[in-house]
Amino acid sequence: MKILVAVKRVVDFNVKVRVRADGSGVETANVKMSMNPFDEIAVEESIRLKEAGIATEIVVVSCGVQACQETLRTALALGADRAILVETEVELQPLAVAKLLRAIVQKESPQLVILGKQAIDDDCNQTGQMLAALLGWSQGTFASKVKISDRKAEVTREVDGGLETISITMPAVVTTDLRLNEPRYVTLPNIMKAKKKHMEVLKPDALGVDVTPRLKTLKVEEPPKRKAGARVHDARALVAKLRNEAKVIA
Ligand code: AMP
Repeated sequence: MKILVAVKRVVDFNVKVRVRADGSGVETANVKMSMNPFDEIAVEESIRLKEAGIATEIVVVSCGVQACQETLRTALALGADRAILVETEVELQPLAVAKLLRAIVQKESPQLVILGKQAIDDDCNQTGQMLAALLGWSQGTFASKVKISDRKAEVTREVDGGLETISITMPAVVTTDLRLNEPRYVTLPNIMKAKKKHMEVLKPDALGVDVTPRLKTLKVEEPPKRKAGARVHDARALVAKLRNEAKVIA
Protein backbone atom coordinates (compact mmCIF):
# COMPACT_ATOMS: atom_id res chain seq x y z
CA MET A 1 0.00 0.00 0.00
CA LYS A 2 1.31 3.42 -0.97
CA ILE A 3 0.79 6.29 1.48
CA LEU A 4 0.87 9.97 0.58
CA VAL A 5 1.66 12.40 3.40
CA ALA A 6 1.14 16.17 3.14
CA VAL A 7 3.66 18.31 5.02
CA LYS A 8 3.51 22.06 5.40
CA ARG A 9 6.34 24.44 6.22
CA VAL A 10 5.22 26.76 9.01
CA VAL A 11 6.72 29.13 11.57
CA ASP A 12 8.37 26.92 14.22
CA PHE A 13 6.06 26.28 17.16
CA ASN A 14 8.66 27.64 19.60
CA VAL A 15 8.85 31.03 17.88
CA LYS A 16 6.81 33.90 19.25
CA VAL A 17 4.72 34.91 16.27
CA ARG A 18 4.90 38.60 15.31
CA VAL A 19 2.34 40.41 13.18
CA ARG A 20 3.75 42.48 10.29
CA ALA A 21 3.77 46.21 10.98
CA ASP A 22 1.15 46.83 8.25
CA GLY A 23 -1.20 44.19 9.71
CA SER A 24 -1.17 42.24 6.45
CA GLY A 25 -0.11 38.95 8.03
CA VAL A 26 2.45 37.18 10.17
CA GLU A 27 6.15 38.06 9.84
CA THR A 28 8.04 35.17 8.25
CA ALA A 29 11.27 36.96 7.23
CA ASN A 30 14.26 35.73 9.28
CA VAL A 31 12.01 33.46 11.33
CA LYS A 32 12.79 29.80 12.05
CA MET A 33 10.51 27.58 9.97
CA SER A 34 9.77 23.89 10.59
CA MET A 35 7.43 21.09 9.65
CA ASN A 36 3.90 21.63 10.97
CA PRO A 37 3.79 19.51 14.21
CA PHE A 38 0.63 17.62 13.15
CA ASP A 39 2.41 16.70 9.90
CA GLU A 40 5.33 15.26 11.88
CA ILE A 41 2.73 13.00 13.47
CA ALA A 42 1.41 12.13 10.00
CA VAL A 43 4.91 11.21 8.78
CA GLU A 44 5.52 9.15 11.94
CA GLU A 45 2.26 7.24 11.46
CA SER A 46 3.15 6.39 7.87
CA ILE A 47 6.59 5.15 8.96
CA ARG A 48 5.02 2.97 11.66
CA LEU A 49 2.65 1.50 9.05
CA LYS A 50 5.65 0.74 6.86
CA GLU A 51 7.55 -0.82 9.75
CA ALA A 52 4.48 -2.97 10.46
CA GLY A 53 4.61 -4.24 6.87
CA ILE A 54 1.30 -2.55 5.94
CA ALA A 55 2.72 0.29 3.83
CA THR A 56 5.18 -0.33 1.02
CA GLU A 57 6.01 3.23 -0.01
CA ILE A 58 5.71 6.66 1.61
CA VAL A 59 5.57 9.71 -0.65
CA VAL A 60 5.66 13.13 1.04
CA VAL A 61 4.26 16.24 -0.64
CA SER A 62 4.64 19.89 0.17
CA CYS A 63 3.16 22.86 -1.68
CA GLY A 64 4.79 26.26 -1.49
CA VAL A 65 8.06 28.09 -1.97
CA GLN A 66 11.38 26.47 -2.87
CA ALA A 67 12.44 26.40 0.80
CA CYS A 68 9.76 23.74 1.43
CA GLN A 69 12.45 21.37 0.12
CA GLU A 70 14.00 21.57 3.61
CA THR A 71 10.76 20.33 5.16
CA LEU A 72 10.61 17.52 2.63
CA ARG A 73 14.25 16.57 3.34
CA THR A 74 13.35 16.30 7.03
CA ALA A 75 10.48 13.96 6.15
CA LEU A 76 12.85 11.91 3.99
CA ALA A 77 15.35 11.76 6.87
CA LEU A 78 12.58 10.55 9.15
CA GLY A 79 11.86 7.65 6.80
CA ALA A 80 9.75 8.73 3.81
CA ASP A 81 10.87 7.20 0.50
CA ARG A 82 10.25 9.98 -2.02
CA ALA A 83 9.25 13.62 -2.07
CA ILE A 84 7.25 15.90 -4.33
CA LEU A 85 7.39 19.69 -4.14
CA VAL A 86 4.65 21.63 -5.86
CA GLU A 87 6.53 24.87 -6.15
CA THR A 88 4.84 28.24 -6.24
CA GLU A 89 5.38 31.73 -4.84
CA VAL A 90 1.61 32.29 -4.65
CA GLU A 91 0.17 32.32 -1.12
CA LEU A 92 -1.73 29.04 -0.98
CA GLN A 93 -5.14 28.73 0.61
CA PRO A 94 -6.62 25.36 1.74
CA LEU A 95 -8.80 24.85 -1.36
CA ALA A 96 -5.82 25.40 -3.65
CA VAL A 97 -3.71 22.96 -1.60
CA ALA A 98 -6.54 20.40 -1.64
CA LYS A 99 -6.76 20.70 -5.45
CA LEU A 100 -3.00 20.30 -5.82
CA LEU A 101 -3.08 17.25 -3.55
CA ARG A 102 -5.96 15.79 -5.55
CA ALA A 103 -3.86 16.12 -8.71
CA ILE A 104 -0.95 14.37 -6.97
CA VAL A 105 -3.29 11.62 -5.74
CA GLN A 106 -4.51 11.10 -9.32
CA LYS A 107 -0.88 10.82 -10.47
CA GLU A 108 0.35 8.58 -7.63
CA SER A 109 -2.74 6.49 -6.75
CA PRO A 110 -2.06 6.03 -3.03
CA GLN A 111 -4.47 4.01 -0.88
CA LEU A 112 -4.16 6.35 2.05
CA VAL A 113 -3.47 10.08 2.38
CA ILE A 114 -2.44 11.36 5.82
CA LEU A 115 -2.50 15.08 6.66
CA GLY A 116 -2.31 17.05 9.87
CA LYS A 117 -5.66 18.04 11.35
CA GLN A 118 -4.58 21.67 11.05
CA ALA A 119 -1.65 23.85 10.17
CA ILE A 120 -0.52 25.84 13.22
CA ASP A 121 -0.03 29.01 11.17
CA ASP A 122 -3.48 29.49 9.64
CA ASP A 123 -5.44 27.11 11.95
CA CYS A 124 -7.75 26.43 9.00
CA ASN A 125 -8.51 22.73 9.66
CA GLN A 126 -9.91 22.47 6.12
CA THR A 127 -7.45 20.87 3.72
CA GLY A 128 -7.99 17.19 4.64
CA GLN A 129 -11.76 17.51 4.56
CA MET A 130 -11.69 19.39 1.23
CA LEU A 131 -9.36 16.80 -0.28
CA ALA A 132 -11.63 13.92 0.76
CA ALA A 133 -14.63 15.75 -0.73
CA LEU A 134 -12.83 16.51 -4.01
CA LEU A 135 -11.76 12.87 -4.34
CA GLY A 136 -15.10 11.44 -3.15
CA TRP A 137 -13.13 9.38 -0.60
CA SER A 138 -13.89 8.38 2.99
CA GLN A 139 -12.30 10.45 5.72
CA GLY A 140 -11.29 9.90 9.34
CA THR A 141 -10.43 13.24 10.91
CA PHE A 142 -8.73 14.04 14.26
CA ALA A 143 -7.35 10.51 14.47
CA SER A 144 -5.83 9.35 17.76
CA LYS A 145 -5.55 5.73 16.58
CA VAL A 146 -5.48 4.15 13.13
CA LYS A 147 -5.80 0.42 12.45
CA ILE A 148 -5.67 -0.84 8.88
CA SER A 149 -6.97 -4.25 7.90
CA ASP A 150 -8.67 -5.81 4.95
CA ARG A 151 -9.10 -2.63 2.84
CA LYS A 152 -10.69 -0.86 5.77
CA ALA A 153 -9.34 1.63 8.26
CA GLU A 154 -10.55 1.77 11.83
CA VAL A 155 -10.04 5.33 13.03
CA THR A 156 -10.47 6.43 16.62
CA ARG A 157 -11.36 10.11 16.64
CA GLU A 158 -10.97 12.68 19.37
CA VAL A 159 -14.39 14.29 19.82
CA ASP A 160 -15.68 16.65 22.50
CA GLY A 161 -17.30 13.94 24.60
CA GLY A 162 -14.40 11.45 24.39
CA LEU A 163 -13.40 9.03 21.65
CA GLU A 164 -15.36 7.83 18.65
CA THR A 165 -14.26 4.84 16.58
CA ILE A 166 -15.35 4.62 12.96
CA SER A 167 -14.68 2.15 10.18
CA ILE A 168 -13.99 3.64 6.74
CA THR A 169 -13.32 2.02 3.39
CA MET A 170 -10.06 2.58 1.59
CA PRO A 171 -8.85 4.59 -0.23
CA ALA A 172 -9.21 7.17 2.51
CA VAL A 173 -8.02 10.47 3.90
CA VAL A 174 -6.94 10.57 7.55
CA THR A 175 -6.02 13.67 9.54
CA THR A 176 -3.89 13.38 12.66
CA ASP A 177 -4.58 14.58 16.19
CA LEU A 178 -1.93 15.19 18.84
CA ARG A 179 -2.21 11.87 20.65
CA LEU A 180 -1.87 9.60 17.58
CA ASN A 181 1.83 9.00 18.26
CA GLU A 182 5.04 10.62 19.42
CA PRO A 183 7.25 11.42 16.43
CA ARG A 184 10.83 10.17 16.43
CA TYR A 185 13.84 12.47 16.11
CA VAL A 186 15.87 12.82 12.95
CA THR A 187 19.33 11.26 13.21
CA LEU A 188 22.46 12.60 11.51
CA PRO A 189 23.12 9.45 9.42
CA ASN A 190 19.53 9.58 8.18
CA ILE A 191 19.92 13.26 7.23
CA MET A 192 22.89 12.22 5.09
CA LYS A 193 20.95 9.32 3.54
CA ALA A 194 17.98 11.59 2.82
CA LYS A 195 20.14 13.71 0.52
CA LYS A 196 20.20 10.82 -1.95
CA LYS A 197 16.45 10.25 -1.94
CA HIS A 198 14.46 11.45 -4.94
CA MET A 199 12.65 14.79 -4.94
CA GLU A 200 10.43 15.77 -7.85
CA VAL A 201 9.58 19.44 -8.38
CA LEU A 202 6.35 20.34 -10.20
CA LYS A 203 4.52 23.58 -10.89
CA PRO A 204 0.77 24.03 -10.30
CA ASP A 205 0.32 24.70 -14.04
CA ALA A 206 1.74 21.30 -14.90
CA LEU A 207 -0.94 19.79 -12.66
CA GLY A 208 -3.64 21.94 -14.29
CA VAL A 209 -4.52 23.66 -11.00
CA ASP A 210 -5.35 27.35 -10.65
CA VAL A 211 -4.01 28.41 -7.25
CA THR A 212 -5.15 32.03 -7.35
CA PRO A 213 -6.26 33.04 -3.83
CA ARG A 214 -10.02 33.35 -3.40
CA LEU A 215 -10.03 34.98 0.01
CA LYS A 216 -8.48 38.29 0.94
CA THR A 217 -7.05 38.78 4.42
CA LEU A 218 -8.32 42.14 5.59
CA LYS A 219 -6.37 42.48 8.81
CA VAL A 220 -4.26 40.46 11.23
CA GLU A 221 -3.99 41.68 14.83
CA GLU A 222 -2.00 40.61 17.87
CA PRO A 223 -4.13 39.32 20.77
CA PRO A 224 -4.69 41.97 23.48
CA LYS A 225 -1.83 42.15 25.98
CA ARG A 226 -2.58 40.46 29.32
CA LYS A 227 -2.76 42.87 32.22
CA ALA A 228 -0.21 42.38 35.01
CA GLY A 229 -1.48 40.51 38.09
CA ALA A 230 -1.59 41.97 41.62
CA ARG A 231 -0.25 40.50 44.85
CA VAL A 232 -2.45 40.32 47.96
CA HIS A 233 -1.03 40.08 51.47
CA ASP A 234 -3.41 37.59 53.02
CA ALA A 235 -6.48 35.44 52.41
CA ARG A 236 -8.81 38.10 53.77
CA ALA A 237 -7.61 40.62 51.15
CA LEU A 238 -8.01 37.96 48.45
CA VAL A 239 -11.59 37.21 49.51
CA ALA A 240 -12.39 40.94 49.56
CA LYS A 241 -11.01 41.35 46.05
CA LEU A 242 -12.90 38.32 44.77
CA ARG A 243 -16.12 39.59 46.36
CA ASN A 244 -15.85 43.21 45.23
CA GLU A 245 -13.71 43.29 42.11
CA ALA A 246 -13.81 39.93 40.34
CA LYS A 247 -16.07 39.81 37.30
CA VAL A 248 -17.75 36.80 35.77
CA ILE A 249 -16.72 36.48 32.14
CA ALA A 250 -19.43 34.84 30.11
P1 AMP B 1 -5.05 23.50 7.21
O1 AMP B 1 -6.31 23.05 6.56
O2 AMP B 1 -4.41 24.68 6.52
O3 AMP B 1 -5.21 23.72 8.69
O4 AMP B 1 -3.98 22.32 7.02
C1 AMP B 1 -4.27 20.98 7.38
C2 AMP B 1 -3.21 20.05 6.83
O5 AMP B 1 -3.19 20.12 5.39
C3 AMP B 1 -1.79 20.31 7.25
O6 AMP B 1 -1.49 19.76 8.52
C4 AMP B 1 -1.00 19.62 6.12
O7 AMP B 1 -0.97 18.21 6.32
C5 AMP B 1 -1.88 19.91 4.91
N1 AMP B 1 -1.41 21.15 4.23
C6 AMP B 1 -1.91 22.40 4.34
N2 AMP B 1 -1.21 23.27 3.59
C7 AMP B 1 -0.23 22.55 2.97
C8 AMP B 1 0.82 22.85 2.07
N3 AMP B 1 1.03 24.10 1.62
N4 AMP B 1 1.61 21.84 1.64
C9 AMP B 1 1.42 20.58 2.08
N5 AMP B 1 0.45 20.23 2.93
C10 AMP B 1 -0.37 21.19 3.38
